[in-house]
Amino acid sequence: MAEPSVELREVSKRHGDTLAVDRLSLTIRRGEFFSILGPSGSGKTTTLRMLAGFESPDAGDILIDGRSVRGVPPNRRPVNLVFQTYALFPHLTVAGNIAFGLEMRRVPRADIAARVQEALDMVRLQGKQDRLPAQLSGGEQQRVALARALVNRPAVLLLDEPLGALDQQLRADMQVELKTIQERVGLTFICVTHHQEEALTMSDRVAVMQQGRLLQVGSPRDIYEAPQSAFVAGFIGISNSLAGRIETVNGARCTVRAADLPSGFSVVARCPVGAGVGAQATVVLRPERIHLSADVQLNGYDNVLPARVSKAIYNGSETQYVLALSDRLSWQVRVPNIGNGQQRFQPGTPVFLRWHADEAVVLSE
Ligand code: ADP
Ligand code: MG
Repeated sequence: MAEPSVELREVSKRHGDTLAVDRLSLTIRRGEFFSILGPSGSGKTTTLRMLAGFESPDAGDILIDGRSVRGVPPNRRPVNLVFQTYALFPHLTVAGNIAFGLEMRRVPRADIAARVQEALDMVRLQGKQDRLPAQLSGGEQQRVALARALVNRPAVLLLDEPLGALDQQLRADMQVELKTIQERVGLTFICVTHHQEEALTMSDRVAVMQQGRLLQVGSPRDIYEAPQSAFVAGFIGISNSLAGRIETVNGARCTVRAADLPSGFSVVARCPVGAGVGAQATVVLRPERIHLSADVQLNGYDNVLPARVSKAIYNGSETQYVLALSDRLSWQVRVPNIGNGQQRFQPGTPVFLRWHADEAVVLSE
């Protein structure tokens, strides 16, 4: 395993009455694309500003490349922060913007030219060095902001909602682009975002924060497929949930009965570690893991539940169904539109949901 690049040890930070960051411990590896994901106000920016040196922790310690950075000012840290608003100088060309910091530090002219060229190559802006920011697209401005940070050759690049100012389509393109740039330059990227798809797409690992606390850290796949809390399950994409009690345990499998299910129905799921009969449990299931059918047969699946279609929303690549399982319980199901005689379910019609026990996650108290 690569040696750690950045380490936070029990870091806390208070803003007035708010505990913005609460005993946060994280280890970020060298060369890793690491994202901190959480809703607005969860302490992401505060964490990044402490790494950059613009704020200091009230408690705990931060190590970069194995050394504590306590008391080290921002310009002496091997990190660079890229802001959401790119803060480019409008009257300077692309090259002028990228060179600015080096000129301020009186780096020799010949070195500056070479390093600006290198940074332009990294973000694939060759040939655009003489343009003004206003003559660039949003995505290109974003890349200038990146180049301006990369030209300083930091060990760690810090990005605060780097794609926040871009529209939906450009954002999707830039997610892939940012990841590609990061792989090309091989630096540690620490990216803060409230956008779950962005974090999953770009990152090697993701840390999910809520109210200053770390809830879970893992690969995008871990976070999506094995959320450890209802908050993470709900925040990372849509998930259906069902709160009930474990009724029977049979080896690695258990049955969960819930008041919200139609009478006579229960759910078979993987048994959560340490849970016994009678324990409270929440079953969490992703909308794309459920198969819809007009017939009640299990057909090789472990679970079947009846429902009625409330809504069927066609959105091009898939159809999103809202299904009423009972008066109180509504789930979403997403079915890819593959064409060719695919069965469609109209609002008002009965339907059966089927899925494999292992597709669901069971959270127990
Ligand atoms: P995020 O970036 O996840 O949205 P922040 O780190 O900006 O979260 O903020 C975390 C919490 O700290 C929020 O409740 C926010 O209102 C509060 N906070 C952040 N900066 C300040 C500040 N300078 N003064 C007072 N409260 C602040
Ligand atoms: Mg923020």
